[in-house]
Amino acid sequence: MGQGSYNPYETAQTQFDNVADLIGLEDSVRQLLRQPIREFHFTIPVKMDDGSTKIFNGYRIQHNDARGPAKGGIRFHPLETVDTIRALAMWMTWKCAVVDIPLGGGKGGVICDPHNLSKAEQERLCRGYVRQLAKNFGPYADVPAPDVMTSGQHMLWMMDEYEAIHGGHYPGTITGKPVGMGGSLGRKEATGYGVIYTLREALKVLNIDISKTTASLQGFGNVAEYAARLYTSLGGTIVAISCWDNNDKKAYTFRNLKGIDIEQMAQIKDAFGTIDKEKAVAMGCELLPGDEWIAQDVDILLPCALENQITPETFAKISDRVKVICEGANGPTTPDADELIKARKIYLIPDFLCNAGGVTCSYFEQVQCNMNYFWSLEEVLEKLDYKMTTAFHAVHNLAQEKGLYMRDAAYVIAINRVAEAVKLRGWV
Ligand code: GLU
Repeated sequence: MGQGSYNPYETAQTQFDNVADLIGLEDSVRQLLRQPIREFHFTIPVKMDDGSTKIFNGYRIQHNDARGPAKGGIRFHPLETVDTIRALAMWMTWKCAVVDIPLGGGKGGVICDPHNLSKAEQERLCRGYVRQLAKNFGPYADVPAPDVMTSGQHMLWMMDEYEAIHGGHYPGTITGKPVGMGGSLGRKEATGYGVIYTLREALKVLNIDISKTTASLQGFGNVAEYAARLYTSLGGTIVAISCWDNNDKKAYTFRNLKGIDIEQMAQIKDAFGTIDKEKAVAMGCELLPGDEWIAQDVDILLPCALENQITPETFAKISDRVKVICEGANGPTTPDADELIKARKIYLIPDFLCNAGGVTCSYFEQVQCNMNYFWSLEEVLEKLDYKMTTAFHAVHNLAQEKGLYMRDAAYVIAINRVAEAVKLRGWV
């Protein structure tokens, strides 16, 4: 979200411009890629349960579709901004390109707080969103998915509305659908597992035994939960988790220096990732201020919540022991904090590589929907691991070869792929 004066679109453009300079990108390609190719801004009237009608503002932004249909989530958030969605759409383009899947980048959002909407109101909002956009997205144009505060159920209502409008079955219209309704096994684990596949590979190249590491996590939504599950199953210890408490409207950090039991923690959170404080304390966790997660004496930091979390101000609290930052969230680090990470030689796994597991599995979901034949969980996870591991090593090797920061190396690969596609298509 746009927090104070922070603008994620400026961050996305600064990151892009720096790498465009580095690789000497032609001006026309640069102008095309530093902004979205198409934007839809619309209003969504929703009949509320009390009989009133509320008007919501919705957006869908397609950054680039030269390599395939635009792809990316739809977020429901009260502080959503157009520039946040622009930045996220742009990051989706690089994300799909760095893992080399035939999709472009898009993102959508609705300014709303789903905590305050009944299930029926959420359904009408989802259907209203699709009615406004029905002509401008679909399996061959732009394929949405879940994101912050949206779920498989939201996606299914959206798909149902799309199919009602277009008169047929189009399961490839939207991904992240429930399993059995066109969803893929492994989709709920995919983003978090992907984060840990890249972390596992990073620790290998750094010669660090994962089972001797400790980590601190920001967020406990779907991405964070599954990252924590896989990390602990590989022997790592999570000592702190920070998450938003929607009742108190502030974040807390839950800490247990002996290690947090992730399975137990998952059982005491609600659908939006808020952890029950009393139960967590009863489980042996200390309750600390929300921003304490970043100050923990751990080997690995896993920001898996929102953008703009690692800034020069919060960087100052990072322990000297931290060796790896794994960006499970989109855009958690500001460009000025990147300079500090570089200077301290902390190994960074950049967001659009680190969290690409979700969209990679979305791509698998589309492939399975098109074939109308669904793979086993093992098959999905094996293919996911292969894609993430291959992409990680390509970025790591380029960074080593050219002495680049990991984020810049990932950008070089992604921008070159998209630039080639727009040139081959004759767009520039
Ligand atoms: N919302 C996820 C992301 O930011 C997944 C997008 C998708 O599956 O299309 O990567």
